[in-house]
Order: sequence, then structure tokens, then C-alpha cells
Amino acid sequence: CTHSSCQQVSSCLAAGHTGYLMEGCRVCRSRVGRVAITYVLMCLIYSSFQVDFWHPDSITQIKPQTRVDFRVEADNSFDVENILEQNGMEYEVLIDNVQALLDTQFDSNIRSTGHSYNKYNNWEMIAAWTADMAAQNPDLVSRSVIGNTFEGRPMYLLKVGKSGHNKKAIFIDCGFHAREWISPAFCQWFVKEAVETYGKDELMTRLLTNLDFFVLPVLNIDGYVYTWTKNRMWRKTRSKHAGSSCIGTDPNRNFDAAWCTVGASKRPCDDTYCGSAPESEKETKALADFIRKHLSTIKAYLTIHSYSQMLLFPYSYTYDQAKNSNELTKKQGCLTRSLPVPPNCNYRELVNTVYSEDIKNNTTHQAKKEGKNFIGS
Ligand SMILES: [Zn+2]
Repeated sequence: CTHSSCQQVSSCLAAGHTGYLMEGCRVCRSRVGRVAITYVLMCLIYSSFQVDFWHPDSITQIKPQTRVDFRVEADNSFDVENILEQNGMEYEVLIDNVQALLDTQFDSNIRSTGHSYNKYNNWEMIAAWTADMAAQNPDLVSRSVIGNTFEGRPMYLLKVGKSGHNKKAIFIDCGFHAREWISPAFCQWFVKEAVETYGKDELMTRLLTNLDFFVLPVLNIDGYVYTWTKNRMWRKTRSKHAGSSCIGTDPNRNFDAAWCTVGASKRPCDDTYCGSAPESEKETKALADFIRKHLSTIKAYLTIHSYSQMLLFPYSYTYDQAKNSNELTKKQGCLTRSLPVPPNCNYRELVNTVYSEDIKNNTTHQAKKEGKNFIGS
């Protein structure tokens, strides 16, 4: 099973991958040992069954001595577990029935009564919420549109901060990957905290007085809508590609920084498809344009994702140390010390890279190469 044959077969499988329930779907965690055979086995499993990688993002990013989390269809879980067992590969079942877990995300009676910070909100609610936040907090919040999505939805951006001259800014975005619902929920929560504690909490008051926060609550709005209407596990955008029936690009693999090299796929059907060109997606183009336009004021960029507890640095497409790696390491220490980590939430996994946990002093993300202090999690 070579790399390319693996990807071909899986691409075919992925093509028919829409509009189903996750009933009986399992999430398994396995560990890739030192021996190459374990990697070949994962490759075999990937090419033979509808396996959806949750960590790392794709088969190409599996490294020796790392854990691999993947979702497997109910019909295939017996066979997959059999293969793992017969070959002596350790695994554990993290989630026995994904659908049962997803159902609990909708168990709230307040779901139909409008926006809430304690439940997941659909795009209409989030869009209305952005207008409400600006209307209710005119001295702290303003709303703008930085572009439109592939399907024509306006991309709302909130600027949060007290008005002032020559203010520096921090950019935060959420909802890159459609299925990572906790990410947009975080952006909404952050804005709520900001407006509710301004004037009461000393730190927040200082932050909003001296800085502006640009908050993009959902970048991949089309994908987010699709996870609400068709397929909860959708990850990419919803753009169409000439010559392929597969839909969507991984927006996080679509920037003009080591584009489509490490950890990205050139196949439109793959979940990590990098797009036809850097910034081929309307959403990533709008974001990059905004950041380029405000480069003199934006001093830090944070992108919020879900799965794993990790704090990731920019530029992990290379083994070279980032120019500002000392500064990043210092900030990493600062941030982890100040994180109020709840029990069972272990941030020891904090690493310097997205793609390989064994590289030291290296920094992450392909997103932005302009040399700011970009930190994603
Ligand atoms: Zn993500």
C-alpha cells in the first residue's frame, strides 16, 4: 500500500461521504510504534474503510511514536478493530457511538428560543448576534463585513475595544473547520466576556482601553451551515472545483505560506485539500486581505480550533527555527502558566508544532507568513 494508492482509494470513498448519520460510528485511538509495519497497517485501514482522521488531520501526517485518533463507520468498526488486534496494535475506543454524543448537543429546550452562550448557535443566530452586540454596545463594539463566502454569505467581523488613537490590535478568528463547533462558541463567549467585564475587571478594562480585538466569529460559514443541515462531520469550505465532483477546500491549508507542502493534499476529495492556488477560497482571501491591510496595527493573530489541548506556534512546515522563536517560547510559558486548566483537561500536550510532535523549537502554521506572533490552538 503506497502513499498514492492509499490516497486514491480513500478519495473515492470520501466522494460519497455526505448526508448520513453517525449512528454507531466509533472513534478509536491507536498508537503508531517504531516499526514501519504499523504505519502500513494504518495505511491499509485508511484505504479499505471510511476512516476519518481526527488526529493528525491526515494519513500523511502520521509519524512514528505518535497517537492516531480516527472515526470509523459502524459497519466497518468490527473489521478495523480486528485488523488492529490481529496485528498486535494497541487501541482504545474513545467514543463508542458518535451519533449518541452528537444528539446530546441538541438536548437543550432553549435551542429554539434564540441565541445562547450555553449552547451551539446556528449561523442565523450568530449573524443576528453580531448585529445585536454592536447595537447594544456602541461604545465598545462595531461590526463590519470583510467579504462574502463562496455561497454569498457576508463575513461579519466585530471590532471590540474603546475608541482611541493609534491603537494596536489582536486578531482572533474562529470556525475555520466547519465541524469544530466549540470554536465559534469560543469567539462569541470572548466578546460577551469583553463587554460584560469592561469597567469591572481591571485586566479586561486595560486590554480594551489599549488594544482593539478583531473577532471573526466564523470564517468558514458555508461549511458551518452545512454541518447544521447535512453532515455534522464536514470540515472544508463548500466551493466547487473544475474537473472534480468533490466539494470544498481546507481553508487552513489555503494560505500563501509553504502552500500545499507539509500536511496538505492536492486531491480535491481529501479533507486536507489545499485548493487550486493560495487564497483560492473567497473566505481565506478576504481574511488575508484584511490582515494585509491592517498589518501595521495587528500585533498578534490567534486562530481557534478544536480537538486536543494544544497551543501551536506558526511555521511548522519547516524544521528551521522561527526568527522570533525565543519570544514565542517566552509567550508560550506565560500563556500556559496563566491558563486556568480544569481537572481532566491536560495542556501538557502543548507542543511547538502541528504536524510532528517530535520536532523541537519549531513553530506552526501555514496560515500567515508575515512574521507576526501568530498563535493557534
Ligand atoms: Zn481545525
